[in-house]
Amino acid sequence: MRRTSLWARLLGVQGVIMEDISTEENDDGEIACLIVSARLRRAEAGRCGVCRRRSAQYDRGPGQRRWRALDLGVIPTFLEAEVPRVRCRDHGVVVCSVPWARHGAGHTRAFDDTAAWLATRTSKTAVTALLRIAWRTVGSIVSRVSADALAGRDRFGNLRRIGIDEISYKRGHRYLTVVVDHDTGLLLWAAAGRDEATLRTFFDLLGEERCAAITLVSADAAQWIANVVAEKCPQATVCMDPFHVVQWATKALDEVRRTVWNEARRGGQKAIAADLKGARFALWKNPEDLTERQQAKLAGIQRTNERLYRAYLLKEQLRQVFHLRGKEGMKLLDQWLSWARRCRISAFVKLAAAITDHRSAIDAALTNELSNARVESVNTKLRLLTRIAYGFRLVEALIGLAMLSLGGCCPPLPGRR
Ligand SMILES: [Zn+2]
Repeated sequence: MRRTSLWARLLGVQGVIMEDISTEENDDGEIACLIVSARLRRAEAGRCGVCRRRSAQYDRGPGQRRWRALDLGVIPTFLEAEVPRVRCRDHGVVVCSVPWARHGAGHTRAFDDTAAWLATRTSKTAVTALLRIAWRTVGSIVSRVSADALAGRDRFGNLRRIGIDEISYKRGHRYLTVVVDHDTGLLLWAAAGRDEATLRTFFDLLGEERCAAITLVSADAAQWIANVVAEKCPQATVCMDPFHVVQWATKALDEVRRTVWNEARRGGQKAIAADLKGARFALWKNPEDLTERQQAKLAGIQRTNERLYRAYLLKEQLRQVFHLRGKEGMKLLDQWLSWARRCRISAFVKLAAAITDHRSAIDAALTNELSNARVESVNTKLRLLTRIAYGFRLVEALIGLAMLSLGGCCPPLPGRR
């Protein structure tokens, strides 16, 4: 293997002629970084950096530029080259496209892909320490890598059943609208905002023909979603996402717990109040996931607080409805409703009314046997990502990370197929 092609392989770059390798030292006289000077192959020069259309050369460019490459062994490494500018018919005077980096990037493709791959699989500290870059830089990298990955693929072929949801991503009521494919479990699309205009951009992207092929749309009870779906996919069955209904029940249960706790506190029943404060997780969790201590806590509630225990059973039976699904589920829901209406716990009487209001959409979810687990798992992972993405400057970085992690479009590590 010739030396120049070995260096190209080491750096994971193509279409380049290696000219020189030098080092730079820090103040202590140690090697600080490795500089690989390169030249663009003639055949590669002369394409627009944005659209890759062949264009006439404009000038020799602003001189030497550097791209951060993957470390060679333990030494930070840069690729240095002079890149001409071209005049593109559509994009005007731009730096020409280079095969080793994405347009506008300060890192090589191999570096970008490694950072994106790591960001979807490991912790923030691991990525930033391993690659020696700031978390904000990771944010810009995931934005451009995901934009690049999405540009090259048709994500919306054969769409039949989709789920639409909103996720809050920052304190102060900032939301993302997200669309999930029920059949593949992949995140299809996400955008900042939660209103009709935001959601309409998704359906516009889909186009009329594909909108017409959608058979089922699941969502929470939001009116703005219902409005846009009715306008863009009038033929689709609208169903309620089961986990939202279970979430309503969990909220109702928490309301009961708080009321009972406040009453105990005011009535001077300190021990009961303290017990209830700690019971939150025992009440929230699915019974099959309870620890022994939590089981004991629940048994205690059963003995000392009949109202709260009934509220707990109401939540659990509603969860069971969506576990059963189909006709069995609908039958159990009927029973649940007649129980909840008469239970004299105001939070659950209200819940029964809300469920009655949305009965047809809930029945549609039960009949279509919509998998709750899949949407809920995407939803849970998205919530986790919104926390990881704190510190990214732009919401596009969060969306990019979400598409790479949950949209199935993360590039492989460089040098692997
Ligand atoms: Zn162009």
